[in-house]
Amino acid sequence: RTATVAVRPTLSRANAVSVRSEMSYVMIKPDGVQRGLVGDIISRFERKGFQLKGLKLYQTPQAVAEEHYKDLKEKPFYPALVGYICSGPVVCMVWEGKGVVASARKLIGATNPLASEPGTIRGDFAIEVGRNVIHGSDSPENGERETAIWFGSEGLVEWTPTMTPWLKE
Ligand code: ADP
Repeated sequence: RTATVAVRPTLSRANAVSVRSEMSYVMIKPDGVQRGLVGDIISRFERKGFQLKGLKLYQTPQAVAEEHYKDLKEKPFYPALVGYICSGPVVCMVWEGKGVVASARKLIGATNPLASEPGTIRGDFAIEVGRNVIHGSDSPENGERETAIWFGSEGLVEWTPTMTPWLKE
């Protein structure tokens, strides 16, 4: 018996943008990878119900870290921040869904881990602002900008999770 596989037509870029809901660029920083927190962190976003659109382990070139954090260029901690991001592999992710940017920031917790609520990723796993385990975009615009920096225009996967009807009315 030959199985029939329904292949979803590839949307044109213009259509893809119009049907796509919000995206957050989320990155497990080198300390999170080295400390073996990758599985736990991915699991929190999966269980919340957001859709994974991109995922890779990546050794960050300095120019990419500089571009990502260019708004912080004048901050005194900027050189140390770029060094930290490039100090070992990171896990780059794009999560999509309704309200994902603000929700991811809540799951992640405050920038300073000592001020992050228990139950958040930084609240549960970190102490210092310079070793705060994870990044999440701070606006939908930055979600798009950062996704383009880390995944380019072709780096995401369009797919339909079969559990969608159990997550969306
Ligand atoms: P967030 O990552 O919560 O969006 P920011 O955009 O303000 O926070 O800062 C980006 C990253 O820069 C932080 O996650 C943290 O790793 C680092 N950082 C911010 N403030 C400081 C600081 N005062 N000292 C050292 N590193 C900092």
